[in-house]
Amino acid sequence: MSERYDLVVIGGGSGGVRAARIAATHGAKVAICEEYRWGGTCVIRGCVPKKLFVYASHVEEMIEDAAGFGWQVETPRFDWPTLIANKDREIARLEAIYERNLKAAGVTVIRSRGEIEAPHRVRLVHEDRAIEAETILIATGGRPNLDASLPGIEHVITSNEVFHLETMPKRVVVAGGGYIAVEFAGIFAGLGADTTLLYRGPMIMRGFDDDLRSALQDEMRAKGINLVLNDTFERIDQTPSGLVGTTRAGLALEADQILFAIGRNPAIHGLGLDKVGVELTQAGAIKVDAFSKTSVDHIYAVGDVTDRVALTPVAIREGHAFADTLYGGKTIAVDHALIPTAVFSQPEIGTVGLSEADALKDHPDLDIYLSRFRPMKLSLSGREEKTLMKIIVDAASDKVLGVHVLGPDSGEMAQLLGIALKMGATKADFDATVAVHPTAAEELVTMRTPSRRLRGGKIVS
Ligand code: NDP
Repeated sequence: MSERYDLVVIGGGSGGVRAARIAATHGAKVAICEEYRWGGTCVIRGCVPKKLFVYASHVEEMIEDAAGFGWQVETPRFDWPTLIANKDREIARLEAIYERNLKAAGVTVIRSRGEIEAPHRVRLVHEDRAIEAETILIATGGRPNLDASLPGIEHVITSNEVFHLETMPKRVVVAGGGYIAVEFAGIFAGLGADTTLLYRGPMIMRGFDDDLRSALQDEMRAKGINLVLNDTFERIDQTPSGLVGTTRAGLALEADQILFAIGRNPAIHGLGLDKVGVELTQAGAIKVDAFSKTSVDHIYAVGDVTDRVALTPVAIREGHAFADTLYGGKTIAVDHALIPTAVFSQPEIGTVGLSEADALKDHPDLDIYLSRFRPMKLSLSGREEKTLMKIIVDAASDKVLGVHVLGPDSGEMAQLLGIALKMGATKADFDATVAVHPTAAEELVTMRTPSRRLRGGKIVS
């Protein structure tokens, strides 16, 4: 007789772990299976190690800036294997905490791939046995997308491999213009690699505010990153001295490593969804309703395997809401509006709400407040890097529709701006808030005159 559970969770990442723990806390009998490591992409090969790399890559600039503050620093030397080893130790520590917390909540943890074998049965592939589930939650996340038809694609790495390189590449080409591409271009450039970012469109970070995108491009170029726009790889070849990526425009980009960061796909392969009739979206994600229920009544899905917002805190919210709804006597649908986000580009992006272009679709009358300045932090260093702050206001209602910041610590600002916008803050509320001085963020409450006014979608002043 196989073991029976109220809930079997497939996937031990952010969404799955949260759902399992909360469901168990509510009294459900829960098992969770994971084929790789507890913590999933975010902890093991995503947000967490990435941020550690970002910190590492800032150090050279800090040492350069130190002279302006009177510090003389001997010639610094960076050691990649030390960074990797220390990062691995920290990730192992976090992974152990994830496992410990699951067990402490009474969840049965199973280190095995799980596949749906029958409507209420999950096969544990690595243990060659099956368990029975009243309810199944799929939280398998995503996988890096690769252009399989590109000649030489086998030579490239993705964000899965980049955290485990044995040597630091001296020349790096990053393909893509989204979150991972800009973050890793900044990391490698900061660590001293000769870095190129190759993007197929005219401006990186599509979907973000255009002023922010353009300012980020300026700053990335100022940091020595070679931005190649409107171009993609045609082929990649291994040569005795490394890799050469040939682009459609005819460039030959030489590199020790080529990192592909062209999006991620929902990890549904081999899960057995077809056997039980779980429907997919056109993009191959699991289709769910507001309560994360799939087309099959007792099968649910949260996180990147669905086609909502592919961010760790969103997966955590979805997992928690699922567990509260099914086992906690509450009915909670996750609100996906006004999600603040940070991009750990250099400089950093912190943003919440609509871009100017998106705001214009429903709000033809806008007041735009824009400020670009050198932060005080850099005043003695001689560094020319500029911070950008932009507030988009609906002129009719005075409501703040979006706030976009490019500059140090803007991710921290975005968290708090998120509360204000979620509460429906108006520009008058921003104006009524006393500044915190001297900070960069005070600019957000001291901008008084619109930089431009749009009426009926047209700039009038
Ligand atoms: P993104 O969706 O952010 O960006 C993908 C990029 O690849 C875009 O610039 C896209 O161009 C380009 N692209 C897509 N397909 C192709 C192709 N066939 N050839 C060339 N270029 C292509 O994905 P990422 O991989 O950067 O990151 C995955 C997700 O992980 C993000 O969406 C984000 O949700 C999450 N993430 C979040 C982070 C954070 O919160 N700080 C950090 C890292 C990841 P185009 O815009 O023209 O379509």
